[in-house]
Amino acid sequence: MTDYTKMTKEELIKELEKRDHALSRYEGKTNIEEDPDPLPSLQFKNTKSNLAYLETIKRFSRQLILPEFGPSKQDILGSSAVLIVGCGGLGCPAAIYLAAAGISTLGLVDYDDVELSNLHRQILHTESSIGMSKAFSVKNAVKNLNSKVTCLTHTDSVTSSNIMEIIKKYDIVLDCTDNVATRYLLNDACFFLRIPLVSGAALRFEGQLTIYGLDNGPCYRCLYPVPPAPENVTNCSEGGVLGVVPGIIGTMQALEAIKVLCGIGEPCSGQMLIFDALTTKFRNIKVRNRSQNCQLCGSNPTINELIDYEAFCGARATDKDQNVSILEANHRITCRQLSDMIKRNDHFLLVDVRPSVELEICRLGDPLNVPIRQIESKFSKEKVINAIHETQADTIICICRRGNDSQRAVNVLQEYFPNQRVCDVIGGLTSWAAQIDKTFPVY
Ligand SMILES: [Zn+2]
Repeated sequence: MTDYTKMTKEELIKELEKRDHALSRYEGKTNIEEDPDPLPSLQFKNTKSNLAYLETIKRFSRQLILPEFGPSKQDILGSSAVLIVGCGGLGCPAAIYLAAAGISTLGLVDYDDVELSNLHRQILHTESSIGMSKAFSVKNAVKNLNSKVTCLTHTDSVTSSNIMEIIKKYDIVLDCTDNVATRYLLNDACFFLRIPLVSGAALRFEGQLTIYGLDNGPCYRCLYPVPPAPENVTNCSEGGVLGVVPGIIGTMQALEAIKVLCGIGEPCSGQMLIFDALTTKFRNIKVRNRSQNCQLCGSNPTINELIDYEAFCGARATDKDQNVSILEANHRITCRQLSDMIKRNDHFLLVDVRPSVELEICRLGDPLNVPIRQIESKFSKEKVINAIHETQADTIICICRRGNDSQRAVNVLQEYFPNQRVCDVIGGLTSWAAQIDKTFPVY
């Protein structure tokens, strides 16, 4: 018992205030933040652990006082493992918010290294981490924020042969990738192991979010039984993306993961959240229920094990651009040949088939700009005919950023101009920068 007779007046006042404060709990006045209820699940026995206990309370106090959350949900996060596949624009914000929220274990998957062109959106990587593995870079950032998080890094590509071994350790998987083959791979693997999959996507000014395989919700194959044709798929490298957009969607992936793990609120399953950054609108579209006919999760499944996803999608499981080869060799020239033609003052018409905004970034000389979309949809040949007359060209040379769209352009233009030689530049302006002019911008 406290001996009040030995206290100074100040000590006595303090002691009385403390007791008054304690008493007020019974009158329903005390805020849980000031005087938390006992937290048996967060309690530790020895003194050292007691410090950890007090720090845990303090660190998470703002979410512990949420009636829907509280210590019990904090304990769930503190014993949960989340796998983040893709440590880029979506994966960075997802990882850092989960670490901040007190997740126990983060699996970080990325085979790629940090590049300068990642930094506008992949917010955990820094100038000093260029060249470093993205998974390690995210791990560093996570550890700086919350040293208690266990980070498991995986720097190989996920494939049919390693995915099951990787994801079986996790309670939930976040698809933060940007290619179709990996989306199917993660979907199927998560279904076989009954792990919910929080899927995010961001391109240009738009983002999407949904959860697959949660309770009776649909899987990715229920919605997309057939993969899109590779030429209809655009990634951020080709289509561009405003950096904040994946930031918003990745953050929401972390939020959905927390909700699913803790069983709070209504998770974004059976619905697709679509975010339009330009109009600042979120739309929630109800998507189809789990399909009875789904080849994976339907009543008569035909997919009972992992398959070859690159073959299934006709595209490689990478976020990098892929070179296509459409034309015969005699319709293609090298950068070196183009350079020689320029030096010789040959008569040719250079048609740059990139979107006009990309010519504002860089251009080779003064080309005629006819974007590939115009060439393939509403092409009017007058513009090209006029330019041919002006330049007295006997050859039309199509060029683009990497030498893919230029091949498609040649395919169309040679029908319109059967009397001209029509060819493209292998590797496009990227090859020009690499082989001919090191000062030419690469984007
Ligand atoms: Zn399905």
